[in-house]
Amino acid sequence: RAKMQQRAGHFYFSRSMGVEIRERVRMMHALRTGFAKGELFVVYQPQIDLNTRQPVGAEALLRWQVSDGSFISPVRFIPIAEYSGLIIEIGDFVLRCACKELVRLRAAGHCALTMSVNVSQVQFRHPFFLAMLRSALEDSGAPPEYIELEITESMAMEEPDQLIQMLAEVKRTGVSIAIDDFGTGFSSLSYLQRLQIDRLKIDRAFVSEITGSARGSSIAEMVIQLGRNLGLSVVAEGVEDERQAQILQALGCPMAQGFLFAQPMSPPALYDWLREHPQVRTA
Ligand code: C2E
Ligand code: MG
Ligand code: MG
Ligand code: MG
Repeated sequence: RAKMQQRAGHFYFSRSMGVEIRERVRMMHALRTGFAKGELFVVYQPQIDLNTRQPVGAEALLRWQVSDGSFISPVRFIPIAEYSGLIIEIGDFVLRCACKELVRLRAAGHCALTMSVNVSQVQFRHPFFLAMLRSALEDSGAPPEYIELEITESMAMEEPDQLIQMLAEVKRTGVSIAIDDFGTGFSSLSYLQRLQIDRLKIDRAFVSEITGSARGSSIAEMVIQLGRNLGLSVVAEGVEDERQAQILQALGCPMAQGFLFAQPMSPPALYDWLREHPQVRTA
């Protein structure tokens, strides 16, 4: 009887695995055709200065709306895009959209804003990545010093020497680098110091813990301190309520992003929002 259960369990397991894989293959095809049909687009979430509460930048986030009108989360389809290699073209599309939007924002007078773009590990390590980056910058005319690439901390831990060299070359184009979801990986501090990065983004998991126990804020506090010591800018992600914002501000966190301030928005909504939230004048 135990044996039968074991067999049944095994059968069930392998069958669900098969279903899972078939589902991924189905999604891969849907993603390829959806991308070709123009179902993917980019939305922009403002980033603000915690002290002045003024917008200082925006993060480009990918959206996929399928034909029935529903959305598929990037958390689900980005991994599929990575396995299938589609991330190269999709990532290039996001980078180009973000560069063009930055140029439009500047033309509309929003000259103080930076533009952050998420870059997948597969994309970043592709032999053509640098060429694609340079071409997106040149074709759009986007000023590189206002573009930031976000790479994840987990990605920063693999093949350190290769990454250090790659970051140096990316930095030579003039764009800056942020480590996304910081605090979720285990990168060593001495290694972090060797990377040419400009910014740390505190993962939203640590921001949501901040209002709980005294220990809840310890990771956010550590990242803010680390940023200060290494001369890096720090952005807190996923700020949803005023208490979180106030604690982060008291801890000395310079910037934040989250539903408290603004949702990710389509360009028309972003321009409306920006008109109501004036930025510091630069030029
Ligand atoms: P991420 O880069 O850490 O982006 C932040 C995520 O948090 C976004 O989810 C954003 O919509 C969400 N968020 C912002 N504020 C709040 C808040 O106050 N509360 C909560 N609960 N969530 C908030 P989204 O857009 O679903 O993206 C999820 C992840 O998918 C991103 O995490 C990023 O890793 C990946 N992703 C999105 N767009 C791209 C892209 O163009 N390329 C690549 N490679 N990855 C992308
Ligand atoms: Mg990000
Ligand atoms: Mg993040
Ligand atoms: Mg994330």
